[in-house]
Amino acid sequence: MKLHNSNIERDIVFSTPEVEELIKGNNYSDALVILLRNQKLDWDLLSRGFDSLQNIKTKTFQFDGFTFDVQFNPGRLKSTTANVTRSAIENRECFLCLENLPQEQKGINYKDEFLILCNPYPVFFEHFTIVFRKHFPQRISESFHTFLKLSKKLGKYYSVLYNGTECGASAPDHLHFQAVNKNSLKILTHRDLLIKKHTEKIIDQRKKEVFGINDGLRKIILIKSKDERFITNVFVTFCSSFQNSTNLQNEPMINMISAFDEKEGWQIYIFPRKAHRPKCFYEKGDKKLMISPAVIDFSGTLILPREEDFEKINKNDIHNIFNDVVVGKELFDYLKAHIKKTI
Ligand SMILES: [Zn+2]
Repeated sequence: MKLHNSNIERDIVFSTPEVEELIKGNNYSDALVILLRNQKLDWDLLSRGFDSLQNIKTKTFQFDGFTFDVQFNPGRLKSTTANVTRSAIENRECFLCLENLPQEQKGINYKDEFLILCNPYPVFFEHFTIVFRKHFPQRISESFHTFLKLSKKLGKYYSVLYNGTECGASAPDHLHFQAVNKNSLKILTHRDLLIKKHTEKIIDQRKKEVFGINDGLRKIILIKSKDERFITNVFVTFCSSFQNSTNLQNEPMINMISAFDEKEGWQIYIFPRKAHRPKCFYEKGDKKLMISPAVIDFSGTLILPREEDFEKINKNDIHNIFNDVVVGKELFDYLKAHIKKTI
């Protein structure tokens, strides 16, 4: 395990009296706003990354009760094509280890366990990476509790996102989450219509709800509650049945979003997957679309790092992409039934 040394420690934490005060009051959201503002002034790579978002090309596709944006974002090329095979991971320097972060990069301390950093290759105008301070594998079974807590602490403005090791995490060897502004996630905006049009209610107890959503592209387990223990129970039940029904050695293939607000409590969106990348990723020539769906793609913004793909992608391609990477109906029905029976 690589541990940071104390020199790095002193340098890397962003702290001002104002930020300290905000954190003391549990207002991490406004502390992050200050961090981002300062990092844009002090760190060229980051300010260029955010500047490039101003001219980014997007187009929108309408589906039944929801929309998807497609974003041409060349800054994401490295992440889309990341080689996450074991040998490739073992042979590279870990870019999330604190000693390998760029000189200018600073972050907000979270309980001396995590550092919240600005993402220099953003997809949205506010985009953070939340990095565990030790080199420790991405594993949701051991970090789900933190995932919930973080989304509560950041809930004033932000949602917290998770990518499983085999379906989107570009550093599967180093535990991390992302945080983005809630307004950026189209699925949160479309939630009520998705529930109305495409949903089966799996659990309907007072202030404890679980939905199974199948909107024709995605299959989603949505947990809505203020009760942390209930949410954890549903999550653990879901994971164990998913794990048992697939042959994966590691954790089940999932992407997740957690959004918290005081009125409703948590909304946890779980996207069960069957593949890391769609067939079109591996095609050659005209048939190729370089896309590697992860949690942001599932939230309603598809990221394409090549302009040619952005120009040619159509609705049918989007259907095929999700069909290739999302679990089948039979397995989804089984997972829903298992939660219903067990909880
Ligand atoms: Zn690392």
